[in-house]
Amino acid sequence: MLGHCTILGLPLQAGTGRGGCLMGPDAFRTAGLSEVITSQGLGLTDLGNLPFPTYTPDILCPAHLKKTSEIVAWTKDIQVQAAELAAQDTFPIFIGGDHSMAAGTLTGVAQAAAAKGQPQFVLWLDAHPDMNTLTSTLSGHLHGTPMAYALGMPSFEGIFPPVLAPLDPANVCMIGLRSVDEAEHQFIRELGMDVYDMRRIDELGVAKPVSEFLQRVSAANGLLHVSFDVDFLDPEIAPAVGTTVPGGATFREAHLIMEMVHDSGLATSLDLTELNPFLDIRGKTATLMCDLTGSLLGQKVLDRRTRGL
Ligand code: MG
Ligand code: MG
Repeated sequence: MLGHCTILGLPLQAGTGRGGCLMGPDAFRTAGLSEVITSQGLGLTDLGNLPFPTYTPDILCPAHLKKTSEIVAWTKDIQVQAAELAAQDTFPIFIGGDHSMAAGTLTGVAQAAAAKGQPQFVLWLDAHPDMNTLTSTLSGHLHGTPMAYALGMPSFEGIFPPVLAPLDPANVCMIGLRSVDEAEHQFIRELGMDVYDMRRIDELGVAKPVSEFLQRVSAANGLLHVSFDVDFLDPEIAPAVGTTVPGGATFREAHLIMEMVHDSGLATSLDLTELNPFLDIRGKTATLMCDLTGSLLGQKVLDRRTRGL
């Protein structure tokens, strides 16, 4: 882990059907993300929010897809920023924004990894694999597609920017899945991906899969991007997301994963995504996400701030 973090806000919400993620970066800042970082003795640069991109509304885009031109424009800008930040001596924290931001962050950090000659690994914490292609998506909401894009799967050519360094499906570990479309099931099977749905987590706990994955990252001298969707967590503890699915990760499971990733020293970048402050209860989801980020950065349970409602 580097001694310096850079926050970049990505206020996009066009990938979802519900407004609110636009306010995510402000909510993370209000909940104290900067303080969590500096309290670990880390340097911090907050770059503010990436400006809303200019784009021409949906021309030549398949009609069943929603707000494609806007997401393509965001993807281009985010990809450039992510590749630049990942090449610097800092730990980038991308605060969204809906999960379509990962089309830019995953491909951007993977480009930087390729330039360094190191493999890019991804720990994907989400109720959903977000692995629909532009042809398989049933909803047309593009936050369900960034993993398929970053893996270099078909259907994105000529619409999204080319994927210069596609992720290797063998280097992606998904934990927390509990809402997977039929097409996504098929893609996961075909690609032989390492996925742990909640049934497997119930049976195995989180420590074993995370530990095995981290060992693989280490053995390959890989770089590790963590993409953390709020809906990975159980809605009881994290209600501020438009895609809640019951039966998610508990407070302790989530902290344990973050603590293990910290102890490994392998993480090189992070997405905090899908926070919808419009749906939160007294900021409890935003605060929990900041605390979990604290654990990823080395905060121990005994250091944790206690606070009343
Ligand atoms: Mg997601
Ligand atoms: Mg999700």
